[in-house]
Amino acid sequence: MTMASTSEGKSFSKRTGMLCVRALKWIPVIFIVTIVIWSYYAYVIQLCFLTVKNEVERVLYLIGYHLIFAIFAWSYWQTIFTDIGRVPSQFKVSAADMERLENAESEEAQRHVLERLASGLPVTNRTVTGAIRFCDKCWHVKPDRAHHCSVCGECVLKMDHHCPWVNNCVAYTNYKFFVLFLAYALFYCLYIAFTTLSYFIAFWKTQLEGLGRFHILFLFFVAVMFAVSLVSLFCYHCYLVAHNRSTLGELLF
Ligand SMILES: [Zn+2]
Ligand SMILES: [Zn+2]
Repeated sequence: MTMASTSEGKSFSKRTGMLCVRALKWIPVIFIVTIVIWSYYAYVIQLCFLTVKNEVERVLYLIGYHLIFAIFAWSYWQTIFTDIGRVPSQFKVSAADMERLENAESEEAQRHVLERLASGLPVTNRTVTGAIRFCDKCWHVKPDRAHHCSVCGECVLKMDHHCPWVNNCVAYTNYKFFVLFLAYALFYCLYIAFTTLSYFIAFWKTQLEGLGRFHILFLFFVAVMFAVSLVSLFCYHCYLVAHNRSTLGELLF
C-alpha cells in the first residue's frame, strides 16, 4: 500500500467519523419532533375526531390548536435552521500577526500585540486580567459577547448557549426565535392541558372507552410535564432579556 492511499484511507475514516458525530447530534431534535407528531395525532385524531362529540367544540378546538401548532413549529424551525452569527472578517488576524503573537517573549509583549491588533475595532469586553479577548482556534480578536462554541467548532456572536434540543447555538441571529419558541411551546402545552382536562377527568371516572383514552391520558401528562419545565426556562430568559444578560453571564453596558 502506498503512502498516498494510507492517508486517503485515514481522511476517509475521519470524514465518516465526523458524519456519524453530526448525525448523532440530531437525535434530541428527532426525539422532540417525534413527540410533537404523536401529540398532533393524539389531539387531532384521538381527541377531536374520535372523542369530542359536540361539533362546535370540535371545530373551536381544531382551529385554536392549528393556529398555535403553526407558530410553534415555525419558531422551532427558525431556531434550528437560522445560521449562527459569524465573526466579521475585520476581526481576523493574519498569519504574520499570529506568528508574532505566538513568538511573543512575555505575557506583556503578547498583550501589546493584541492591543495593536484590536486598535480600531469596537471591542470593550476584556478578560479578567484586562487583556483583549482572543481566540487562538479561529485566529481572531473576539467581538464583545462572542464566545468559542466547542460543539459548533467556531466563535459565535453573542453566544447564549449551545442547545442540543435545537442542534444549534442560541446566539445573536436566533435568540429572538428561541425565546418565541419557548413562549409558543409553553402556550401549546397549556392549550393541550386545558382542553384535554375534562376528558382526562372523564377517563378517571371510566366514562371513556378504547385506546383513545390512553392517548388522551398521556397527552395530558406529557403537556403538563413539558409546561412545568418550559415555564421556568421561559421566565429565566425573560429575566435575562430584561437585565441585558445572557446565560453565559456577562453584562454589557
Ligand atoms: Zn473561536
Ligand atoms: Zn454551538
